[in-house]
Amino acid sequence: MNKDRKLIIAGNWKMNKTVAEGLDLVRALKLELANIKEIDIVVCPPFTALGEVSRAILDSNIRLGAQNMSEHHVGAFTGEIAAVMLKEFSVRYVILGHSERRQHQKESDELIAKKTLATHGASLKPIVCVGEMLADRESGRTEKVLETQVRGSLAGLTKEQMVETIIAYEPVWAIGTGKTATTAQAQEAHAFIRGLLATLFDDTVARRVRIQYGGSVKHSNARELMSQPDVDGALVGGASLESRSFADIIKNSI
Ligand code: PEP
Repeated sequence: MNKDRKLIIAGNWKMNKTVAEGLDLVRALKLELANIKEIDIVVCPPFTALGEVSRAILDSNIRLGAQNMSEHHVGAFTGEIAAVMLKEFSVRYVILGHSERRQHQKESDELIAKKTLATHGASLKPIVCVGEMLADRESGRTEKVLETQVRGSLAGLTKEQMVETIIAYEPVWAIGTGKTATTAQAQEAHAFIRGLLATLFDDTVARRVRIQYGGSVKHSNARELMSQPDVDGALVGGASLESRSFADIIKNSI
């Protein structure tokens, strides 16, 4: 694989795995992936498993991510988790604006932009998710939707912060459905997003930002997706819940 940008593959466990189950999974991943240096590997357990998983991966090439974060630093925000709390567990990455949070928690681009700025304020790396619904794609509105989400969710970032931001392109119709975007559809959307970053920031920034693909990634389609010039990794849901399938995605992406 000949890309300037290092691939980053992250497993989004969503609301799955008790602490014991999470530990079983990362212990198996540590063994399976011990020799991988070519790819940044990230697991994103639920908050309740962050502490134990963090300890279990301390001496490994696996990094820790969270699935959400508050835009606030501290205070009366019941049920929320602040950056400083994630940092206690050596969290490095935070998934923001996942389509499930946009849909179920009604997260707006404006809120996601605040959270994105908060992650940078704490030296955490955000993985900002964008992606169109099926109806958007079918009515030819994919690029319009992506433009609105990218502009809105990344509003206010400096060039330096943008370079440290990861974007996950996740067509909503492909998440958890078994339907993957074709490699051509993925590449087209990624190239569009990179072009937009060049307009919003500059060419150098656009060239350096890593854009992951997400949506029913599995070991059988990983290699082809990763071979696309603007696809720099994957955000994996279902297939990250089992060590063999997640490890195979990573191995097949090299
Ligand atoms: C996701 O939730 O980010 C995702 C891509 O899920 P899946 O791989 O299961 O489609």
